[in-house]
Amino acid sequence: MTDTPTQLFINGAWADAADGATMPVDDPATGEILCHVADAGPKDARLAEDAAVNAQQEWARTAPRARSEILRRAHEIILARTEELAHLMTSEMGKPLAEARGEVAYAAEFFRWFSEEAVRIDGGYGTLPDGRNRMLLSRRPVGPCLLITPWNFPLAMGTRKIGPAIAAGCTMVLKPAPQTPLSSLALAAVLKEAGLPDGVLNVVTTSRAGEVCEPLLRGGRIRKLSFTGSTAVGRRLLAQCADTVVRTSMELGGNAPFIVFDDADLDVAVDGAMIAKMRNMGEACTAANRFFVHHSVAEEFGRRLAERMGALVVGPGTREGVDVGPLIDTAGRAKVEELVADAVDRGARVLVGGRAPEGPGCFYPPTVLTDVDSGSRLMDTEIFGPVAAILTFDDEDEVVHRANDTPWGLVGYLFTEGLDRALRVRERLEVGMVGLNTGLVSNPAAPFGGVKQSGLGREGGRIGIEEFLEYQYLAIPVR
Ligand code: NAP
Repeated sequence: MTDTPTQLFINGAWADAADGATMPVDDPATGEILCHVADAGPKDARLAEDAAVNAQQEWARTAPRARSEILRRAHEIILARTEELAHLMTSEMGKPLAEARGEVAYAAEFFRWFSEEAVRIDGGYGTLPDGRNRMLLSRRPVGPCLLITPWNFPLAMGTRKIGPAIAAGCTMVLKPAPQTPLSSLALAAVLKEAGLPDGVLNVVTTSRAGEVCEPLLRGGRIRKLSFTGSTAVGRRLLAQCADTVVRTSMELGGNAPFIVFDDADLDVAVDGAMIAKMRNMGEACTAANRFFVHHSVAEEFGRRLAERMGALVVGPGTREGVDVGPLIDTAGRAKVEELVADAVDRGARVLVGGRAPEGPGCFYPPTVLTDVDSGSRLMDTEIFGPVAAILTFDDEDEVVHRANDTPWGLVGYLFTEGLDRALRVRERLEVGMVGLNTGLVSNPAAPFGGVKQSGLGREGGRIGIEEFLEYQYLAIPVR
């Protein structure tokens, strides 16, 4: 922890908040304070914005290869520091070290992917339908961006935005979640070491998100907001962006259905469920929130899932052999407890777990509920914890209707051995991503994002960089 930056990163330099304010960073496994970091106010945010705005023109003119090489070097530095970054992430966020190492690799891969995209930004030339006029189409960076990230994937949610912004030639102000500022500050140090010019990336850690971000969104100089977080906050930020017509990318909440048909391979389905539910202790926008299992296999599926969930080791993420770390904070755990109590009040049976342990830390045990009533609150609330809620269904039309009966549409999981059924149901699911016989869809090479109130735009994949580029068309009459 001693070498971890704890100050703001503005214009390539580390700085305290202008008013000297700091905020604590807690260890969710113990409830103890790990350290304090600078707590930016509006004045600091304006300095960060100034730096991004001043650096924009020159940065946009850099050779794509130069931007690509910076990302490639940063990718290598991150991988070389896997242990250090994984320990840092686990200490501030709680996830087990094995998962934190996985996130470091996932996060670094966004930089490698976008280092390869930086040199493939294309344009076009064509004859217009009248045969006389020509069109020259080119791409350019959208301009200074505000990037706002959540705490659940502290490193990867940063690189998924910073990677394409750098590749496209945008400058940026990053505001990470207050629970997990250290990973973002460490990332800034990596990029500085990789040769990123001053002012291109600025990081403001703050406990005053609204005060710091709203003036930037309303000020007219920030040209793009890329936000990952809850739908409620996303909605508020969209309203703020409307006045100055700031372009937005919104990666918002989910309420993923996990559908197991009667022809599913149950071993595959249970393996998929363990990933879709337990990755990140269930604190993922992609987490399976509603398990719809065909009534003929529901009992067997529930029994096997409960057996696997009950065998997981709960404890501090830094301890080797631990599968399930603490939840992010006491509020996060209280929400999970309330949702489980509500489901049980409405008749759900607890197959395993269901009671938080005594003692320090925000631990909650892997829990499987069955016979869940469809009116339970956890059916229309992101659980964000290690709780699998099982409901049964009888036929395909019914389950598709129930799966789509939600304002969200991020991801759905589908377990069947029938190709016809898989293709049919996949087309009818109102989601941006589908896992077929798998519980994992995230991949830097694939477009990540949702429909309905799960968001706008995509991150990653070939189109990830598009979010940070504008078109300009030149009309050329040929005489
Ligand atoms: P959150 O409460 O919406 O916060 C997300 C970020 O927004 C934090 O940095 C937060 O800072 C900031 N924020 C909150 N109010 C703000 C305001 N008025 N102005 C500017 N910034 C503001 O979400 P979270 O609890 O951190 O993360 C969990 C949520 O993220 C879940 O809903 C999850 O599904 C979603 N998520 C979505 C994806 C995806 O790709 N679709 C990926 C990961 C997570 P403060 O905490 O200081 O308010």
